[in-house]
Amino acid sequence: MLDAQLNMKLLEMCSGCGACYSICPSSLNLPGYDPRAVIKDILKGDMDKWLASKSIWQCLECHYCLEMCFQHYGFENAMTALRTIAAKRGLHPPQVKRGWDMFVKTSRLGEPALPARKKFGLPDPPKSGAEEFKKLHALLKEAKEKDARKAHNE
Ligand code: SF4
Ligand code: SF4
Repeated sequence: MLDAQLNMKLLEMCSGCGACYSICPSSLNLPGYDPRAVIKDILKGDMDKWLASKSIWQCLECHYCLEMCFQHYGFENAMTALRTIAAKRGLHPPQVKRGWDMFVKTSRLGEPALPARKKFGLPDPPKSGAEEFKKLHALLKEAKEKDARKAHNE
């Protein structure tokens, strides 16, 4: 499972590079956000301590690392993989679960600030597409359950 999400070959190259760390806003500003340490631990098979760490949720997904990466990888991909693994193990912060629940329910991550929009003369926001999303989500859930049943019966 881990190999499917963390590209060890590319991370090996990261360990000898480090070029993006000097422009990563999280590395520059957040104590404890340390790509070098994360990569080192992943490569030695000790990534578990990062799964419960707030650091993996502090990547801004600004893509700076992706833009400058000679191997078109970007350290953010490692952080995304760690967050995915953490979420699958239930190690995500409670606000992530709240955000997900809200997204499933409304297709939004927050309620639009209608009074502020009115004040600035902005039109009402477009519909969120919640109904379409719910249909897609139900189909995805059904497909996953079908796959799980199939795997169980094999
Ligand atoms: S993501 Fe790219 S730029 Fe950053 S350390 Fe790895 S190889 Fe270097
Ligand atoms: S995407 Fe994340 S890891 Fe990459 S530069 Fe931005 S904050 Fe840093």
